[in-house]
Amino acid sequence: MSDAPPSPAAGPAAAPLAYRSTRGAPGVVGFAQALLAGLAPDGGLYLPERLPPLPAGWEAAASVAELARLVLPPFVGEAGAEAVADALGFDMPVVALGDDFVLELFHGPTAAFKDVGARSLARLMDAALAGAGRRATVLVATSGDTGGAVADAFAGLPHARVALLYPDGGVSPRQEEQLTVAREGVRAFAVRGSFDDCQRLVKGAFADPALAGLGLTSANSINVGRLLPQTLYHLWGVAEVRRRLGANVTPRVVVPSGNLGNLAAGLMAQAMGLPVAGFVAAHNRNDFFPRFLAGTAAADAFAPSVATLSNAMDVGAPSNFERLAALFGARLPELVTGEAVDDAATLARMRLTHERFGYLACPHTAVGLEAAARTRARSAGAGPDLVLATAHPAKFPEAVERATGVTPATPPALAAAARAPKRVERLAADGAALRAALLDWG
Ligand SMILES: *Cc1c(COP(=O)(O)O)cnc(C)c1O
Repeated sequence: MSDAPPSPAAGPAAAPLAYRSTRGAPGVVGFAQALLAGLAPDGGLYLPERLPPLPAGWEAAASVAELARLVLPPFVGEAGAEAVADALGFDMPVVALGDDFVLELFHGPTAAFKDVGARSLARLMDAALAGAGRRATVLVATSGDTGGAVADAFAGLPHARVALLYPDGGVSPRQEEQLTVAREGVRAFAVRGSFDDCQRLVKGAFADPALAGLGLTSANSINVGRLLPQTLYHLWGVAEVRRRLGANVTPRVVVPSGNLGNLAAGLMAQAMGLPVAGFVAAHNRNDFFPRFLAGTAAADAFAPSVATLSNAMDVGAPSNFERLAALFGARLPELVTGEAVDDAATLARMRLTHERFGYLACPHTAVGLEAAARTRARSAGAGPDLVLATAHPAKFPEAVERATGVTPATPPALAAAARAPKRVERLAADGAALRAALLDWG
């Protein structure tokens, strides 16, 4: 992981890729610097300077870990690729529902697809910090799934530790169970305030000179270290469908979307040569992106977020839109179909999917299934759909019961979190209180 731009003398496959900002600041940085900084100095997001073609043999890879070793070295170096392979050692099965497929991304330790990005980021960061001889404190404000995935992913790593802030009484009991598991190197703070208060405290801590010595960093979805590993399951899912239906099949990939990281990863994979018949961006009532694709100017399409059943997708202004615009610009409407699905249609699709296939979908996955059905109704004769299933139904038992009358069985990972010893500290929604707690950590 060198910070030097690739040397023209080296072959393109061997050269480490450099990263540049979406906002066009001149100059490039190496992967480690992009990873540890998160945001570029001009406020933009990092992207690799180019997307090399997929290496020969990617379709024959026997696992996502093998894909990591094959595809990621130019992006993250050999050691980084090995770290991601290690992070992604859980199952990602493709399940047939009639003529279509779902790719289940929720068999990691916190039962949601956030595990993919969080676990990859944690291992990559730990390796980069070790290389730089540094340690860091990851500070995360969370209103739900991300915090649990980040805490689990970083627990016990030698070079990074995590402080989580969540609104006391503002997360579901199941989420709180996951956030407060006592983990090595993790502190959970229940803040007496709202999620916005938590975000304000985190922002204040980053700007606080008294905390400069802690090496504060973030782990949110703008980090390029979360994005790149997410390309791998797009490759995996498409290869699986082709193994079953034939090597000339090009599925359409349907992505339940909020911050658009998952979709950005899929489009990057397509630009590298992944054979797909297009993407569907499946949103809930937070429909910025479908409205943009239908012709509304981006500045006019942003809106405050509204609460829905698929709450991990309640995003009014998706941060990865900036990456999509930088990479694909005016071509986006050719590459992606947008759909917006409200809660009533989400529940109806959950019920229908259970009736037809005996399959329980979480509300996020159901938004994808409904968007797939609507897109198909407009384009008869298209190939199979591959819908990304982003959370285990047992993470949303109330919605699943309401739609289907069935209580989803709790998977082992969630049962283990429920049983595990808990540790949580109450914190006033006050910068001085957070400063004192962090300085006291040593
Ligand atoms: C985060 C999340 C999404 C949305 O993914 P983005 O990359 O933010 O678009 C969808 N489903 C679930 C369950 C999530 O946690």
